[in-house]
Amino acid sequence: MQILLVGAGLSGAVIGRRLAEAGHHCRIIDTRGHIGGNCFTERDPETGVMMHVYGPHIFHTDDEEVWAYVNGFAEFMPFQNRVKSTTRGAVYSLPINLLTINQFFGKAMRPDEARDFVAGEADLTIEDPQNFEEQALRFVGRDLYEAFFKGYTEKQWGCAPTELPASILKRLPVRFNYDDNYFFHRFQGMPRDGYTPMIAAILEHPNITVELNTPYTPDMAGAAGHVFWSGPLDGFFDYDLGRLGYRTLDFERFTCQGDYQGCAVMNYGDREVPWTRITEHKHFSPWESHEGSICYREYSRACGPDDIPYYPIRLVEEKALLDDYITRAEATTGVTFVGRLGTYRYLDMDVTIREALETAAAFLDCVGTGHAAPAFFTSPR
Ligand SMILES: Cc1cc2nc3c(=O)[nH]c(=O)nc-3n(C[C@H](O)[C@H](O)[C@H](O)COP(=O)(O)OP(=O)(O)OC[C@H]3O[C@@H](n4cnc5c(N)ncnc54)[C@H](O)[C@@H]3O)c2cc1C
Repeated sequence: MQILLVGAGLSGAVIGRRLAEAGHHCRIIDTRGHIGGNCFTERDPETGVMMHVYGPHIFHTDDEEVWAYVNGFAEFMPFQNRVKSTTRGAVYSLPINLLTINQFFGKAMRPDEARDFVAGEADLTIEDPQNFEEQALRFVGRDLYEAFFKGYTEKQWGCAPTELPASILKRLPVRFNYDDNYFFHRFQGMPRDGYTPMIAAILEHPNITVELNTPYTPDMAGAAGHVFWSGPLDGFFDYDLGRLGYRTLDFERFTCQGDYQGCAVMNYGDREVPWTRITEHKHFSPWESHEGSICYREYSRACGPDDIPYYPIRLVEEKALLDDYITRAEATTGVTFVGRLGTYRYLDMDVTIREALETAAAFLDCVGTGHAAPAFFTSPR
């Protein structure tokens, strides 16, 4: 079968590879001039530093099969994300852990003492938290909330934390030990030469052709037996019901010599500082050595029609519009919507790959049994 895949990011590449291996001919197109979607990395010609062009990407997973999959296409180097936060003129360790608590309150508590202390700070008068702010106050109390959550969240989401659902903080966001490894997952790492060669290796198959600088046009679907769409769900319908809300990011690049901040990611918790964080790219490749350094000051704002959609806003209004687009999509034949934009969800890379592998397998089953492939193999709801 001739298959058209819109988007040469991880979703398009992984699905395309599996279908190509099964003997189908995959044409993969992308509007951008490069493969890799938002995982795209490239070496900066001036400093030699490996840049995470659309923001920092750290691979972390508990999924053994996905870990084996990516290791089949790239050499992974050990990497653990250790984030710091500059707040109220001091630097703290994140996620909030025993070091953060002891430094912030000027104490020398052991784990159980800190647990009791934070429980004493928590606002237990809030019995049934109705929003993010109430949930955070109930978990950690006002001081920690205002220092580490309030300003950062306002900047990141552009709204008051009282407008965000309580479900964002599902459990107590504090560790009562000195573990500052940002992710809990068993497998963590960074591809030695960045993500672009890894995705190029996934795409390297005689049954795959990739066309860059090629936006989708409806006439392309006619020549294909099936279309996989990893672009924006609303974009497939020319946004005719309105636009699903996203946050976009502006990266203000600056360079320096030596080491700018001593770590890969420095968050800024204060509301008065307009950026959410600064990332220093060479610290994502600690096995390399470079004199020069490149940093991104990262700003978050509402996504306009010409911006890159980064984080889906899934509040009540957006969910209603999403429902309408899902209904439209389900009434469309010959197209399956996939990936972070096609299903309007935030997806880490490991989840993207897991879903792509399962989508390809389910599609091959459909082909084998003569059933039409559905609009969604994973529900976007
Ligand atoms: C700031 C940021 C940081 C992240 N950090 C991490 C991290 O540390 N760890 C982690 O596991 N995950 C991270 N992620 C998630 C990761 O980026 C996604 O899992 C991954 O990019 C999803 O791949 P995708 O192929 O679904 O989407 P994308 O990468 O967005 O690819 C979609 C592609 O479709 C193309 N396209 C869209 N519309 C059209 C059209 N009409 N015609 C042709 N082409 C089109 C786009 O140009 C794009 O290349 C992060 C995401 C963001 C936003």
